[in-house]
Amino acid sequence: MHVSQHIVGQFRRKRLLIASTVAAVVLILTLTVRFMEQKGQIEQQAHAFANNAVSRFDKLFSPLDVAASNTLGLVGLTCDHVRAPLIEKLATLQTVRSIMLISQDMIYCSSIFGERNRQFSELYPELAVNNQRMVLSVDDSLLKGSPILLLWTPRTLDNRSGVLQAINIEMMSNYLLEPSLPWIERAVFNVAGKSLEYGNPLIEPALPSEDEVSYEESSLRYPFSVTLLGPSPGKLALSRLPSQLPLALLLSLLTGYIIWLATANRMSFSWQITYGLSAKEFMVYCQPLINARNGDCYGIELLLRWHSPRQGWIPPDVFIPIAERQNLIAPLTRFVLSEVVEHLPSLPTTPGFHIAINVAASHFHEREILNDLQTLWWPANPQQQLVVELTERDALPVVDQQAVTQLHKIGVKVAIDDFGTGHSSLAYLKTLNPDILKIDKIFTAAIGTDAINATVTDMVIALAQRLNIRLVAEGVETAEQADYLREKGVDVFQGYYFARPMPLGDFAAWLQNHRKGLAVWSTREELTQP
Ligand code: C2E
Ligand code: CA
Ligand code: CA
Repeated sequence: MHVSQHIVGQFRRKRLLIASTVAAVVLILTLTVRFMEQKGQIEQQAHAFANNAVSRFDKLFSPLDVAASNTLGLVGLTCDHVRAPLIEKLATLQTVRSIMLISQDMIYCSSIFGERNRQFSELYPELAVNNQRMVLSVDDSLLKGSPILLLWTPRTLDNRSGVLQAINIEMMSNYLLEPSLPWIERAVFNVAGKSLEYGNPLIEPALPSEDEVSYEESSLRYPFSVTLLGPSPGKLALSRLPSQLPLALLLSLLTGYIIWLATANRMSFSWQITYGLSAKEFMVYCQPLINARNGDCYGIELLLRWHSPRQGWIPPDVFIPIAERQNLIAPLTRFVLSEVVEHLPSLPTTPGFHIAINVAASHFHEREILNDLQTLWWPANPQQQLVVELTERDALPVVDQQAVTQLHKIGVKVAIDDFGTGHSSLAYLKTLNPDILKIDKIFTAAIGTDAINATVTDMVIALAQRLNIRLVAEGVETAEQADYLREKGVDVFQGYYFARPMPLGDFAAWLQNHRKGLAVWSTREELTQP
C-alpha cells in the first residue's frame, strides 16, 4: 500500500501545485490590473486638471478682451481725458493691475501713474515687433519685480497703437494652479517660452527633472499653455500597490481554494483510471503457464499494465485495489476481454489452452461478468479454455455462488487465486467448487527457506490432490522450486523462471521459441537415453 499512498500523494501534490499556480496567477493578474487602472486614473486626473486650469484661465481672460475692445476708442485721447474712465474700468476688472494706452508707439497714459512717456516697441518688442498678444513680464512700476502678464489689444495692424493690460497673473496662478498632490507636484503657466510656476514668483522656463513626467494642455483661444509636472504614473501606481495587496490576496486564495475543490474529482486517482482507459494508456500483458510434466505452454494469465504519461508505470497492485473500491474494475476487465479477443487468432487454438483472466468479486454483482462474457467473449467463438481467477484477497463471500455455477455451466473454469493467503480458504472449496487452485507466490518462495510456509504448501498440494483440483504454483523463480513442486505433483507452473509477463502481441514469438527449445531438449534427452 506504500506505493499506492505515494501515487495518491503525487496526485494531491499535483492538485496543490495547480491550485497554487492558479492562485499566484490570479494574484499577479489582480495586481497588474489594479496597477494599470491606477496608472490610467492618475494620467486621466492629470489631464483633467490641466484641461480645467486652461479653461478657467480662458474664462478669466475673455472679459479682459471685451474690456480692451471697449477701451480702444479712448486711444489717442489725452491722458487727462481718459484717466478717469480708465480707473473706472480698472475697478470692474479685479484681475487687472493697470491699463495702459499706446499711441504712435508710445505708452502715453497709465491708469495708475497717469501720463507716461515710454517707447512701447523698446519695452515690449515681443508685442510690438513679434506680433505676440501676450507676454509674461515683471512689474517695474508699482510692485517692482512681481510677475505680470501683459495682454495686448492692438488698434492698428502695425502695433503702434492699442490697449495694454497688466494682469495680476501671480494671484491668478496661485489660485488656479495649486498642485493636486501627489500626482501633480508642479504646475506651470507658459507664454511664448516663458513660464510662471506655482509658488515660484520668478518667470523662468520650467524644465522637468529626470524622474518627472509632464502633461501639457494649450489654450485654443489664447497663446498660453499649462504644464503639469509630477512623478511618473507608473511609479506612483506602484507605490500604491501594497494597499491593494490584501484584497488581491483574498481573491487569489479564494480562487486557489475553488480550483482545489474543483480538481478534487478530475485530479483523483479514479478519474485518472477512467481517463487512462479512454486514452489507451492500459495494455494487456500475458504470462505463460507451464505444464509441469512436459514443459509445454499450458496457457496464459492476462495481466493489466498501465503506463501513464504523467506518472510512468503504475503497478496493478496499486491501481487494481483502487479501481475495485471506485467501481472501475468492471470496465478494466472488459478492456482485458476485448484485447484478448482481438489477439485470439495469434493464440494456440488447442481446446485445452487456458486463457486466465482476473475477475474481481464485485464484478459478479448482478451477474455482470456473465453479461460481459456474453457480449465480449462468446461472440468471438473461442476454441480456448477460459479461466476466471477469483482472488482470495477480495471478499470471496460476496461472490454470487449461483453466478459461479452459471460460469461452470457455460464451460468457464474457475480458479481461486492466491490460495492460502485469505481467511477461510477451505470454506470456499466447498461453496465455489473451483477447478483450479493457485498457490500464492509466498508459499513457493518458502520452499527450502521457511519450514512453516513450506509445510502449508505441502498441505495445500495434498488437499487439492484429494479434491481432484488442478494446482498452479505461482512465483516459480528457481529450478529448485520447480523440481520440488513437480515432485509433489503440482500440475502447472507460473513464474519468472519460465517467463516474465509480456505484451500479448509478443506471445506468439515467445511460444515459437519456447517450443523450439523444448524440441531440442527432448531430442537431447532421447539421445542420452541408454
Ligand atoms: P496475481 O493475479 O497473483 O498475478 C500474479 C502476479 O505475480 C503478477 O503481478 C505477476 O507479474 C507476478 N509474478 C509472476 N511470476 C512471478 C515470479 O516469479 N516472481 C514474482 N515475484 N512475481 C511474479 P502483477 O502483474 O504485478 O499483478 C499483481 C496483481 O494485480 C495480480 O496478482 C492481480 O491480483 C492483480 N491484477 C493484475 N491484472 C489484473 C486484472 O486484469 N484484473 C484484476 N482484477 N486484477 C489484476
Ligand atoms: Ca491471478
Ligand atoms: Ca496470485
